[in-house]
Amino acid sequence: MLRASLRQISLALKEGRVTPTELCQRCLALIRSTQVLNAYITVAEETALKQAEEAEERYRRGYVPPYNATVVQKLLDQGAVLLGKTNLDEFAMGSGSTDGVFGPVRNPWSYSRQYKEKVASRSDSEPENSNWVIAGGSSGGSAAAVSAFTCFAALGSDTGGSTRNPAAHCGVVGLKPTYGLISRHGLIPLVNSMDVPGILTRCVDDAAVVLGTLAGHDPKDSTTVQDTFQPFALPSLTDVSKLCVGIPKEYHVPGLSSEILAVWSKAADLFKNAGAKVVEVSLPHTCYSIVCYHVLCAAEVASNMARFDGLEYGHRSDVNKSTESMYAATRREGFNDVVRGRILSGNYFLLKQNYEDYFVKAQKVRRLIANDFVKVFGSGIDILLTPTTLSDAVPYVEFIKEDNRTRSTQDDILTQAANMAGLPAVNVPTALSGRGLPIGLQFIGRSFQEKQLLTVAKWFE
Ligand code: GLN
Repeated sequence: MLRASLRQISLALKEGRVTPTELCQRCLALIRSTQVLNAYITVAEETALKQAEEAEERYRRGYVPPYNATVVQKLLDQGAVLLGKTNLDEFAMGSGSTDGVFGPVRNPWSYSRQYKEKVASRSDSEPENSNWVIAGGSSGGSAAAVSAFTCFAALGSDTGGSTRNPAAHCGVVGLKPTYGLISRHGLIPLVNSMDVPGILTRCVDDAAVVLGTLAGHDPKDSTTVQDTFQPFALPSLTDVSKLCVGIPKEYHVPGLSSEILAVWSKAADLFKNAGAKVVEVSLPHTCYSIVCYHVLCAAEVASNMARFDGLEYGHRSDVNKSTESMYAATRREGFNDVVRGRILSGNYFLLKQNYEDYFVKAQKVRRLIANDFVKVFGSGIDILLTPTTLSDAVPYVEFIKEDNRTRSTQDDILTQAANMAGLPAVNVPTALSGRGLPIGLQFIGRSFQEKQLLTVAKWFE
C-alpha cells in the first residue's frame, strides 16, 4: 500500500480500502523502523494523527449538497431532525447495499440473539465475522438504521424494489408510493420513469405519517400529480370481510424459498379465516418483467450517467491531457463495475440498429405488464398479496460470490413490476425464518390508493 502512487492512494481512500488514520499510522510505523536512514529530523506524530482524523471526518461527512431535495425540505419544514445520510449501493444500483464506496451495510439482525443462536449451533468453528448477513438494497443503510432503532424513520428510493427489499431483510416497513405522489426533485435519477422516494419505518402507522408530510404536487417535479393530497391517519380495520385479496399465481417463481412460500400461504389463510375473499389471479406478463426492467433501467442509466463527466458534478480526475481523457478517466475512476456495466449495456440497447428490438420492445411489454394490473384491479380485486424477496438475507460472503452476482439480477423479480406499473406497494415484516432472520410480505395496491393499501397492511401487521 505504501508503494502506491498518490492517485492509487486517493482511490483506495475513496473506496474505503484504507482510512486516512490507518494510512498515517502505517507511514509513522515505517518512519520509526527506518530511522537508520536519518531522513526525518522531526516526526510530528501527534499532529499528523490529528490531521488524519480531521481528514477522516471530512471524508466521512462527505459531499454536502448545495440545495435540499423537496422531500428533505418538507421534513425540515415540519420540524423533523435529520440525523445523517445513510449508506446505499452506488447510484442505487444493487440489491444488497454491498456496492457503495463506503463499504457494505451489515444487517442488524446478524447480531440478534435469534440469529446468533441458530448460526452458532450450526457452525461453531466459523469466525463470527463471516456470518453477518446483508441488509438488502439498495437503500440498505436506511433499513438498517431504522431496524437498529437509531432513528424513527428513514428515506430511501425505490426504482425496482430498493425500499421494499432492504425493509424485508431488516424487518421494517418499506413503502413505495404511487409514482407521481412524491416529488423526485433532488433525488439522483436511476430510471426517471420508475423512481420514487421510499419510506422506511418501524410500523405501518408511521409510514402513513411520513407519507402525509412528503406527498403532494411540487412545481419542481412536473411528474407529480396536481391533485391536492390529504394526509390521513389510518383507521383500525376490524372487518376485512368485504376485502378481496388477489394472489398472483405468476409470483410462484423459481428460486422462491419454501419458507417464504409457507409464510405467504399462511398469510393468505389469515385473510381467508377473517372472512376476506382470497382469489388466485393472473398477471400473465410477469415472466417478461425482469428482463424488460433490465433493458429499460440500463437504457435510462446510460443517458442519466452522461451528466457525470467531471465538469459539473462530483468527482473529477487529475488526468488532464485532453478534455476527452479527463472525461474517460473521471468515469473510469468514479463508477464501479455495476454502474459501468449498465452504461455499456444501455448504450448497446440504444444503438440505432438495436433501439427498436430492445428499448421500444421493452416499453411495449412494460405497457402490457401495467395493463395486467389494471385488469386485475378492474375485476374487483382490492389488493394483491405477494412475497417481497425470494429468501431471507444471505451472508455477505455468499452474496458477493460471482455466480450469485449474476443471479442477483433476479433479486427484484417480485418487486419491480409495481415500479413498471407505477403502483403503490409496501413490505410488511411478517415472520422470522428458521435462521432467525426477518421475512416480509408485499401488498400492492391501486394507483393513489395508499390509504387502502396501508389500512390493510396495518390490519395484517
Ligand atoms: N436492484 C435494482 C437495481 O439494481 C433496484 C434498484 C432500486 O430500486 N434503486 O436496479
